[in-house]
Amino acid sequence: MNSIEEFYSLEKKSDYAESLFKDLSDLNSRLNAFLNITKISSQNYPFSVKDNICVKNVETTASSKILKTYVPPFNATVVERMLSKNFGFIGKTNMDEFGFGTFGLNSERIPRNPFNEEYVAGGSSSGAAIATAVLKYHIAIAESTGGSISAPSAFCGVVGFTPTYGAVSRHGLIDYANSLDKIGLMSRHAKDIRYVFDIIKGPDNYDSTCIDIDKRKIQERKEETAKNTIFIINQINDFLDESVKSHFSGLISKLENMGFTIKTIDFNLLDKAIPTYYIISMAEASTNLARYTGFKYGLKNNEFSQDYNSFFTESRSNFGAEAKRRIILGTFVRGASVKSKYYSKALKVRGLLISKMKEILRHGFILSPTMPIATPKIEDANSLTPVQNYGLDILTIPPNLSGFPHISFPYDYDKELPMGAQLISDHFDDYSLLDFVQNWEDSFKYKFKYNLGSI
Ligand code: GLN
Repeated sequence: MNSIEEFYSLEKKSDYAESLFKDLSDLNSRLNAFLNITKISSQNYPFSVKDNICVKNVETTASSKILKTYVPPFNATVVERMLSKNFGFIGKTNMDEFGFGTFGLNSERIPRNPFNEEYVAGGSSSGAAIATAVLKYHIAIAESTGGSISAPSAFCGVVGFTPTYGAVSRHGLIDYANSLDKIGLMSRHAKDIRYVFDIIKGPDNYDSTCIDIDKRKIQERKEETAKNTIFIINQINDFLDESVKSHFSGLISKLENMGFTIKTIDFNLLDKAIPTYYIISMAEASTNLARYTGFKYGLKNNEFSQDYNSFFTESRSNFGAEAKRRIILGTFVRGASVKSKYYSKALKVRGLLISKMKEILRHGFILSPTMPIATPKIEDANSLTPVQNYGLDILTIPPNLSGFPHISFPYDYDKELPMGAQLISDHFDDYSLLDFVQNWEDSFKYKFKYNLGSI
């Protein structure tokens, strides 16, 4: 039985809904997981929604001042599908502004790691991961462009699932970079993710890029043994901290004991993934952010009687520093005089990266630590330069850039803080990842934090 079915079989559900609202409000003042919290009926299994996904009549800002006061008149397709199956919406989760970030530090109220509040929760889906770590009965709707589901899941010790690009409708998502954005899920258990993925996935009249993964053929696997084979890319060793290396080798031994064949392989394109991703994602982000004028929504610190230039300069000053950086760099890389040097080249490298990774994934999964470093303290992450910060996405970017489904799962603890590993599979082979983590869960002892609202 998954925890959703377990919840529905409980007799005292009303106690849960009452205590959940109160305890969560108290805890949230310390952890900053939610931007708003809603009371739910005791009959509904709770779900949270990242703040870049529209919920009807609930303020939705993608954590940005430029969207303050925007209250969508409609539900995103994922939200509509959850509500139609009797799930109860409990609130919008905190995130880096528009999804720009890896540690949650680009949000107004800094999200904190529930295992130790001096440490980052990860980003950009920070609040989704915190909520999952503290709530016994809950599932989070999150989103990833370049690792925003994997990174916070790893730092908060929960399972984070990013499906094949296009498997879940993005109708009602506030876009970061359209060729990369994917809606996914976080939970304490892969079983719950499977249950909810079955509900939210699949074609949608409002999103023509959304596909039916069940009808797509998983490419012919060359070897019978592909399901039991795991590849580790040699080049990741150049980027891993010593503590991550030693914990990760412990995971490899455990997987060997479980019967998996572990093989190492070269992948020379690894260090090209970061520049490729940041060129493409910033180019797309800069066009997406062009639409925010401050006319209708956003903090009103300007006057309509001003001339055009002053009005836009003032309203667009509501973007945070990282958003401004991406608008400037993204506009630059797609400029006519440099396009062939940056943007067009990045698209070519992306194509190459997809075909090379696909070749490996025909023979098995790809596994790595989710993050190359152990969870950093907030003050340490804050002192990273932007380039150092981007570099830490080295392991989460490859599957995101190529649209491969991937899952981050907790596998160990370092100084009482969780560590995550990330498994990648071929396009449309999403369910193999869930099978794998279900299998892993049977042999791993999780330490979830708080168990708020447990009955
Ligand atoms: N850290 C990456 C970035 O800032 C990925 C974030 C995301 O997936 N939204 O772009």
